[in-house]
Amino acid sequence: MRSAKQIRSEFIDYFRDKGHTFVPSSPIVPIGDESLLFANAGMNQFKDIFIGLVSPEYPRAVNSQKCLRVSGKHNDLEQVGRDTYHHTFFEMLGNWSFDDYFKAEAIEWAWELLTKVWQIEPSRLWATVFAGDLADGLPPDDEAARLWTKVTSIPAERVLAFGKKDNFWEMGETGPCGPCSEIHIDLGPDRCDMQDVPGHKCRVNAGCARYIELWNLVFIQFNRHPDGRLLPLSAKYVDTGAGLERIVAVLQNKKSNYDTDLFMPIIDYTAEITGHKYTARLGNKTDNAFRVIADHIRSLVFAITDGATPSNEGRGYVIRRILRRASRFGRELGMHEPFLYKLVPVIVDYLGEAFGEIKERAEHVSTVIESEEASFGRTLDRGLEIFNTAAKRVEKSKDKVISGENAFQLYDTYGFPLDLTELMAAERNLKVDTVKFNELMEQQRERARSAQKSDSIMAVLTDTELPVTEDVQKFHADSCESRILGWIDKDGLKTQGHIRNGAEVGLILDKTCFYAEAGGQVGDCGIIESNEACFVVEETIKIANCVVHRGKVTDGSFGVGHVVRAVVSRDRAAIKKNHTATHLLQWALQKTMGKSIAQQGSHVGPDYLRFDFTYPKALTAEQVEKVEELVKERIIEDLPVTWTVLPKDQAQQLGAMALFGEKYGSEVRVVAVGAGSDTRIEDAFSKEFCGGTHVDRLGSIGGFKIIKEESISAGVRRITALTGRGLNDYLEKASDIVDELSVMLKVPSEGIIERVGQLVKDNKELSKKLKKASRSSGSDVMSQARDLLENCEKIGDSSVIVGRLLTDSVERAREAIDMLKKKSKSAAIVLAFDDDGKVTLLAGMTNDIIEKGLSAGQVVKTIAPIVDGGGGGRPQMAQAGGKNPQKINDALAKATEIIKAKLST
Ligand code: ATP
Ligand code: MG
Repeated sequence: MRSAKQIRSEFIDYFRDKGHTFVPSSPIVPIGDESLLFANAGMNQFKDIFIGLVSPEYPRAVNSQKCLRVSGKHNDLEQVGRDTYHHTFFEMLGNWSFDDYFKAEAIEWAWELLTKVWQIEPSRLWATVFAGDLADGLPPDDEAARLWTKVTSIPAERVLAFGKKDNFWEMGETGPCGPCSEIHIDLGPDRCDMQDVPGHKCRVNAGCARYIELWNLVFIQFNRHPDGRLLPLSAKYVDTGAGLERIVAVLQNKKSNYDTDLFMPIIDYTAEITGHKYTARLGNKTDNAFRVIADHIRSLVFAITDGATPSNEGRGYVIRRILRRASRFGRELGMHEPFLYKLVPVIVDYLGEAFGEIKERAEHVSTVIESEEASFGRTLDRGLEIFNTAAKRVEKSKDKVISGENAFQLYDTYGFPLDLTELMAAERNLKVDTVKFNELMEQQRERARSAQKSDSIMAVLTDTELPVTEDVQKFHADSCESRILGWIDKDGLKTQGHIRNGAEVGLILDKTCFYAEAGGQVGDCGIIESNEACFVVEETIKIANCVVHRGKVTDGSFGVGHVVRAVVSRDRAAIKKNHTATHLLQWALQKTMGKSIAQQGSHVGPDYLRFDFTYPKALTAEQVEKVEELVKERIIEDLPVTWTVLPKDQAQQLGAMALFGEKYGSEVRVVAVGAGSDTRIEDAFSKEFCGGTHVDRLGSIGGFKIIKEESISAGVRRITALTGRGLNDYLEKASDIVDELSVMLKVPSEGIIERVGQLVKDNKELSKKLKKASRSSGSDVMSQARDLLENCEKIGDSSVIVGRLLTDSVERAREAIDMLKKKSKSAAIVLAFDDDGKVTLLAGMTNDIIEKGLSAGQVVKTIAPIVDGGGGGRPQMAQAGGKNPQKINDALAKATEIIKAKLST
């Protein structure tokens, strides 16, 4: 039997023999592409080639792409576990032609590989072609239909035509697309899972599991414009995708992808940890849990390796949901403690050879998963509680439906996927209002969509060849002379005419000294001016090799060919300092805490720098101090900063640090700190792959201060630090505070600490004395209460007695309430006191007040959260504790409001 590893290699070798270059998978988290949450097809990394923004390095390519289909246009999450062939994470094998061969070869080779090399019985295979679409004005793909019977042995009756839904492939709402031809396999009548559906007939694309799609051959010919139009591309491409897991199941003669060597090791180990048995049945709760867990843990390993971390937004949120879903299914197998992380080594063991990155990051991945599992363990139980309460309520109702709001709350706040809530509801013979749920989901999606609006400039650049901008000047100049080549507006690239005053465009120059946003360093701002006109640059970005200066004409007008002066804002100097300091920081972190520290992201702007890195726990104060000291020492030494461009291999040999998962060209720029003209780059203490701008000597950074060290997600820490200008502002503010304190306390600044220390001590003693005094005069609480009564407000005949007591005795306060009730006959009373930071709230109501609908228990329960506490009691008397004495007055104000509202009606 062929192993999955062999099958992957055979695919790659087959196409290598046919002149294809092997290209490694791009990261599952697309770097620098915000329009896509996760790689969902092999074509993602070649998108810019298809829309004509960059030219391919090779005419043919072959790859195995890591894909995740859990969001956006392609989302198979709900399918996972229920069937045997949809996963969240899977490998997509593909062969690619970049304006080289087209339909004939693509069809012939796919057929040859399946039927000759892999010996799949040809009579089990079916092909489909595109039937055309009237609305889009697309003709049927007769060419493909003809080719199928011409270049393969498939009989015409097994070539079927389908519409846009099945045979027109689109990556997302916009982007490259085209008609496709799919190859399906007939797995035999016993695999049909729709026998109970009336009128069901097993056919290709009829929805049952008897026929499944193995391979999709996409002929990319169009680009979908944001306004919905299909624009033809000038070149034609072949983009194919075959799911490795499905092929492996067929070739290993298994009934399910989960029975193959890609999943069984995970399932076996899960069985070992949980003590449950996997029996491979569909529709079985326990087996379903096994499958979901095996599927989800693969997604987690690959996504977290490539830089995603569980969080509350975007990519991180998707990952969090997958993890929580797996965790909940773990309860089906009796797992109440974190266990998913224990599966990580099994995956690394089997897939680490093909994808070395998961090996390198295994420890980080385990840490992240374990800590997220542990924290979900807490919300999971709370979510289950909420579900149970809702279910109990609904069970008594007529329609027995869990509300959409409840389901959404469980989904959104507690991470319960809808199918999970439905499953739990079904167990109690309840339904879920999915219509309302979907409505709420749609609202949320709408919010997400507008937040993730794809780059408007990119979207209008269909099949456009952008000019190349020379931008080496950015490394040594802050201004340069250039010529206008054109601009991008809402209709696309313009290379003729004028831009008028007030216009907002992306200006393109023949050369520029502006730095385009990349590698964490923000894009430059500044101005581009001529004698007559001025353009204010708000943002600089790079598309392919073209630098685009986004901004607005504020004076005069510009035309193509005009000679202009590009002047970078003075912010640049501050940015350089922060960027070099970021390199120093990475070096110092590794020196202090070890080489396992790896960069997860950074932000280098004019005001501050931020550096995210993998580390399992908070840094100690000593570690932070040491890191800061190391950086400062280097700055004082004023060492030189230099850079060179080297072949990638050589740079790696020198030990230069690269950003994990980032794609680099064959030549890379290495920024070195500490190697001068008389020393060699090898001797530099910090060497990083980096395309950013840096100071020439460390001394000009001026100073360095870490102002924050925090966790941004499990296993990832963030340091925020200041240099130069930002540091000066910070120190100035601090010194102002010291000056003010010094005036206020009437001591010189050196004496402030001692003085404040003394004040704190005095204060403690005074309040102790005060309490003692009030305790010894036992009647004191009573007299305070009498004061409150005398000064209280009346509504009708009832007294509203709300106020603070100075005491530390609950007993005394209760006695006061009893006394007030007796004295005033009709009273609503709420009292509060603070005992060394511990708040006590007490309420009492006379019976006539209770009859009017006020309850002491209710009032206390409502106001306690204001002081960060909780409590309750009977309608006559109730008590609550709290932790926030600062808010006592707010809580009492609320109490007055509630009482008055009730008594005035
Ligand atoms: P299906 O209709 O089965 O969901 P699809 O039309 O979504 O497939 P494509 O987008 O054409 O699939 O992807 C190309 C290939 O990737 C498919 O032929 C299949 O082999 C594989 N594939 C797609 N989705 C998944 C998935 N969720 N899990 C495993 N393999 C998949
Ligand atoms: Mg699909």
